Amino acid sequence: MRNRQATQLLSELSHAGRRGAELPPSDVPEWPLEDLLPSEAMAAAPPRLPELAEPDVVRHFVNLSTLNMSVDTHFYPLGSCTMKYNPKRHERLSRLPGIVDVHPHQTAGNIQGLLELLYEMQEMLAEISGLPAVSLQPAAGAHGELTALFVAAAYFRDKGESRTKVIFPASAHGTNPASAAMAGFDCVELKGRSDGFVDIEELKQHLDDKTAVFMVTNPNTLGLFEREIAEIAKVVHDVGGLVYIDGANMNAIMGITRPGDFGGDMMHYNVHKTFTGPHGAGGPGSGPICVRDFLADYLPAPIVRQRDTGSDEKRFELATPSKTIGRVRSFFGNVGILVRGYCYLRTLGAAGVREAAEQAILNANYLKALLADVLPSAHGEHCLHEFVASADGLAKERGITAMDIAKRLLDYGFHPPTVYFPLVVPHAMMFEPTETESKATLDAFSDAIHKIVTEDADLLHTAPHSTPVSRPEEVNATRKPVLTWAACNKE
Ligand SMILES: *Cc1c(COP(=O)(O)O)cnc(C)c1O
Repeated sequence: MRNRQATQLLSELSHAGRRGAELPPSDVPEWPLEDLLPSEAMAAAPPRLPELAEPDVVRHFVNLSTLNMSVDTHFYPLGSCTMKYNPKRHERLSRLPGIVDVHPHQTAGNIQGLLELLYEMQEMLAEISGLPAVSLQPAAGAHGELTALFVAAAYFRDKGESRTKVIFPASAHGTNPASAAMAGFDCVELKGRSDGFVDIEELKQHLDDKTAVFMVTNPNTLGLFEREIAEIAKVVHDVGGLVYIDGANMNAIMGITRPGDFGGDMMHYNVHKTFTGPHGAGGPGSGPICVRDFLADYLPAPIVRQRDTGSDEKRFELATPSKTIGRVRSFFGNVGILVRGYCYLRTLGAAGVREAAEQAILNANYLKALLADVLPSAHGEHCLHEFVASADGLAKERGITAMDIAKRLLDYGFHPPTVYFPLVVPHAMMFEPTETESKATLDAFSDAIHKIVTEDADLLHTAPHSTPVSRPEEVNATRKPVLTWAACNKE
């Protein structure tokens, strides 16, 4: 049973006169408040603050924290988000004094160790992507997309070309069109083929000398590898456009194939997804970009370079590319997340990176097969690191929606998958188990889903039943949420 105290607000737990601290009488003259505050503020009644002892406050927040689901507490198969386990060793290493105590204004000369680490990270990211020039600056995947599109815009401007269009498939992550629009491009969406792949003939109809960039996720959002990616890249290149690979799904291909080898000119990584930065709830992220050499001069500064010392001694320095688009974030990017990613890559090594991808693919295909009888996936027999199943059949036969199953999973102690994305699949449920889950966990998860689909539809429509808040934003939720905005604003 959930702790009742965590479901109450601090204002509800308040007792007049209770306090957590007792201060001695002030021995300095008080400032007349009238001198500091405008008269309206002086006239208003002071806000009613909750009155509580320290243990009340600590218990409240600790209990609240236990209501959350995280990858440390639950299986978290949130498709496209790669919620793999974040090893605690990386946490310890990223807190070493040589990393956390560095002042961002220290000179390159006295942070050589950190710069060496960042340099090696650049090199590893370049190697895995097959794209030689790297900027660690962007703070998240979407930020990487935006940065790369600024780089593309600067490149075309420099060539004296006016290219205004960015093209992407309908299954693209929402950040793709958002980044294109923010970078000032016109967005063109492709419908794609019924089997989920890019339709080259459709793409060709939109390609012309106005085409700046074609953005594509590979494997795509359905968890399928675009087999014609080299041909796709060729037709984009034929009109002078650039190919952007959304690298959020690198977990499926790292160590197996490389965007630079199959035609990509630019890509971003999600270090917080693929390389185990703890994420969720909005951050912190890290979205380095890798580009072909002819785009290197436009990258944001600073880039870490190794200086030729003419001896075995290694020296690192910060460089500014000659035509840089400028900074997109302060200092070196989200160093704490980059260090975790560095630890992951160094721990696994080249062979281990490939093995992790293969294990992620195996896990996804195993779960896909386990669920096929109740939640079929329309697109192909096999998937890569994730798959999109559909609850459309259940919705038609029994009125059970993807949302109902997702909500009910919370009662069974599982974080739900991504639902209703991509939009091209009705009642989409997108599962990404990642490589860090055991067969036993996947079996237990499948058992829970099989049980859920046999449950009473009304029970499912009103799920979850074990959480203090059920469906606060669902118009058709019949169960009254325990916490409402009215309760929050009471008095
Ligand atoms: C997560 C994701 C993004 C955006 O990355 P953020 O770090 O959340 O900004 C972009 N594309 C795809 C396919 C993603 O899964």
